[in-house]
Amino acid sequence: MSYLLPLSFPVFDGNESLYVQQAIGAGQLATNGAFISKFEYKLTKRIRTHQAVALNSGTSALHLALILLGVGAGDEVICQSFTFCASANPIVYLGAHPIFVDSEEDTWNISPELLEDAILSRIALGKKPKAIIVVHLFGMPAKMKEIMEISTKYRIPVLEDAAEAVGSYYEGKACGTFGKAGIYSFNGNKIITTGGGGAVISDDASLIEKAKYLSTQAREDLPYYQHLEIGFNYRMNNMAAAVGLAQLEKLELWVSKRRQINEQYRNLFEDFPGISFQTESDESMSNYWLTTILIDEELTGFSNDRLRILLFKNGIESRFLWKPLHLQPVYKGLPFYGGDCSENLFLKGLCLPSSVTLTLEDQKKIAGIIEKELSKIS
Ligand SMILES: *Cc1c(COP(=O)(O)O)cnc(C)c1O
Repeated sequence: MSYLLPLSFPVFDGNESLYVQQAIGAGQLATNGAFISKFEYKLTKRIRTHQAVALNSGTSALHLALILLGVGAGDEVICQSFTFCASANPIVYLGAHPIFVDSEEDTWNISPELLEDAILSRIALGKKPKAIIVVHLFGMPAKMKEIMEISTKYRIPVLEDAAEAVGSYYEGKACGTFGKAGIYSFNGNKIITTGGGGAVISDDASLIEKAKYLSTQAREDLPYYQHLEIGFNYRMNNMAAAVGLAQLEKLELWVSKRRQINEQYRNLFEDFPGISFQTESDESMSNYWLTTILIDEELTGFSNDRLRILLFKNGIESRFLWKPLHLQPVYKGLPFYGGDCSENLFLKGLCLPSSVTLTLEDQKKIAGIIEKELSKIS
């Protein structure tokens, strides 16, 4: 199904074709071309002071980052429940156990209070968590000040899943650069894309070196193939990096475009009762990768699913927010700390079209559909 107005449509209107042709011209399509290090360098410039290793997905970035934080079989890892399954699946790849923690209402991300409760409870059970996975959902920064204080207090490293938050900032510092390590995703509908791709970022050079080594089958620097460890085939290829470099050149522009789209939705929906937004605090700047709303059915007279179907009938894509992982059948029965915050967000929320190609006219059309539906209850 292709939509008239998709949720997040990739745009390749810059140097993408040129750079890919250069990669092909140089005969470098695999994991050894010049664009890979260029892309990594430009990425670190953009987020300042950190090191990066470019990989073939955000999921593989999470997998490697957990290994580098020392997570292994039998360990427990705390993970924000309100997220995409890829945040937690790598915990299971390693034979470790996810411990899910609920969100808080300001940012929709992990609650610092519940995080501390969970840590104390696990420590009391004699199972101190090995790492904490924090997610900046839909580009919205989590409460990093409080979270990093807890990380320091209990000496548990933070891994930031900033897959959706490339170009988001908290207290003027890039999301992904607070924890011991952070990851980005450059999958097809993220704010910048390499087709499929990801990165681990950290200010610890040795950690990034190790990630690079593990991502290329843990090959020793010898004239023949020698391996001391089990590695992975996780490195980004040069063609993807060529696309990524061109996309990075547009990141700033696209963040401002997506923020403008968010602002316009707010203006258009201003007088709509029962519709609210995921909103920044004074400390945070979201890339507003996706604009997300909550629908209070008691005030609107319609549910998020009703609106989803109405939009669908008009060729407009919208989507539920992530279903919390503690409610996923595959994660049934695992420890969960919290209440119904993320569950309520899931029951009320909807992601709206947020592509940089979206026009004000498109947004007015969406507002018109909502307005018409609202008029039915008054
Ligand atoms: C997209 C995404 C990932 C996974 O990234 P891939 O590049 O698709 O593997 C992980 N976490 C979150 C929150 C995501 O949105």
